[in-house]
Amino acid sequence: MISVAMDGPVGAGKSTVAREAAKRLGFIYADTGALYRAVGLYAVRNGLRDENASDYKEKVTALLPEIKVGIKLENGVQKVFLQDEDVSEEIRLPEISMAASAVSAIQAVRDFLLELQRSIARENNVIMDGRDIGTVVLPDAQVKIFITAQPEIRARRRFEELVKKGVEAAFDQVLADLNQRDYQDSHRAAAPLKMAEGAVLLDTSKLDFEGSVNAVIDLVKSRI
Ligand code: C5P
Repeated sequence: MISVAMDGPVGAGKSTVAREAAKRLGFIYADTGALYRAVGLYAVRNGLRDENASDYKEKVTALLPEIKVGIKLENGVQKVFLQDEDVSEEIRLPEISMAASAVSAIQAVRDFLLELQRSIARENNVIMDGRDIGTVVLPDAQVKIFITAQPEIRARRRFEELVKKGVEAAFDQVLADLNQRDYQDSHRAAAPLKMAEGAVLLDTSKLDFEGSVNAVIDLVKSRI
């Protein structure tokens, strides 16, 4: 099996680029952020909204045994299930992005999702995107890519994505959220976002979608 680990900050184009590159390569695409989002959604549904509360970590950890997260591929599109309910749309709301970032800093949550992620790569040729795929989840991946772009460019992409979906958003708020998530994701003790050893840096600031997809495909082809 061939594994491509694709890590990088929010809005770097990971998911759209990885999805299209996977399709053209005949690989499956696995979006691991969606799993953290499902756990974040479950926490929010259970009234855990204040990540600064002293008992937040403990309470989220206590919920884990009852959480059932699953993914299914429907026509190549990943659907995420929480307690057997399709939550693929709901997990994209900005509030859930912040909750995902908060729960993902908890080591017990990372441990909880680790085996599910590894099992996907055992059974399929995959491009898996996340924050710690090359460093923790699939350290033996044949190809590791760290994909990024300047913060303002990433915020602009995320903003346009939300507008397209009809979600009300202000650009300044999107940029502020993105900077906060970048900071949290790269400064946490548990699996911080960083470039894996042997990873190739792909800066998409000046690349359009097609250029980014081609860059990924070329990289994968050059390594396998
Ligand atoms: O990629 P996405 O924005 O959907 O991820 C949501 C949140 O989940 C991120 O802010 C990050 O904190 C967390 N995450 C993670 N490890 C992964 C994927 C996502 O910590 N492998």
